[in-house]
Amino acid sequence: MPIHEKSLIRPENLVTHEHLELDGIDVSGHWSTFIESREITDYNEALQDEIAALPGGEFIHRCWQCGSCTNACTVNALNPDFNPRYWIYLIRMGFEDELVRDKDIIWQCVSCNKCTYACPRDVFPEGVMKATSHWLELKGYTPKSPAMVFDEEFSSQVFATGKIEDGKVLRRFFARTGQSLFQDWLIALVRGLLTQLPVSLLMKMGLASVFHPRTRNWDAASAAIAEYVTERKEADRRALGLDTQGAE
Ligand code: SF4
Ligand code: SF4
Repeated sequence: MPIHEKSLIRPENLVTHEHLELDGIDVSGHWSTFIESREITDYNEALQDEIAALPGGEFIHRCWQCGSCTNACTVNALNPDFNPRYWIYLIRMGFEDELVRDKDIIWQCVSCNKCTYACPRDVFPEGVMKATSHWLELKGYTPKSPAMVFDEEFSSQVFATGKIEDGKVLRRFFARTGQSLFQDWLIALVRGLLTQLPVSLLMKMGLASVFHPRTRNWDAASAAIAEYVTERKEADRRALGLDTQGAE
């Protein structure tokens, strides 16, 4: 019998015997492919609640496993191991160990939201993917993803000045993620900007990179945003049973 959804079975759980005879019948090789019995010893009964407590994960309980999200997914089309429907299933069942085994690809969601439009139950799978990536980081299973580092650099400028200076965001992002600033696509982008943007705008951008202008009367708004972000981070950690001191 064919093994359905073979891609969901871990290679180490597929066993093939080179030489095997059963009741006098030679079933060596492909014919003796078996799936090792699955043994789950470690449930996290609060896993769905933990994901639901994070922004984006609120409606995970609505999922009825139709698979439309995975079918529509941009990343799944390139890598069948990237499977939002499967991860939502693991979360709802509380299979934390199994979920963590895919920690190195879960963060690769590109936030295209195709899954969100395909979902008949308004689960917002893209939000669930974000919440799951955030959960992995908060639980210490993964270092901060490049997307999270970019978010932090972007947000810190908004908090500080109420404005965004793209060059500074990119410089700091590349420095923190250990990437060279001289990437082909970035060089092409800068060349395009230099040739197509009006000189007055380029001069304005150059001056902004030197003087870092702030939005007028920004202090009160900045303090309110900083307070909200701190409260939100502490709430997230509390929902996951973590101490709030780790919140930045
Ligand atoms: S938002 Fe993420 S999970 Fe949804 S379709 Fe796009 S890549 Fe896939
Ligand atoms: S499309 Fe929605 S209901 Fe269907 S599996 Fe994905 S999240 Fe669940």
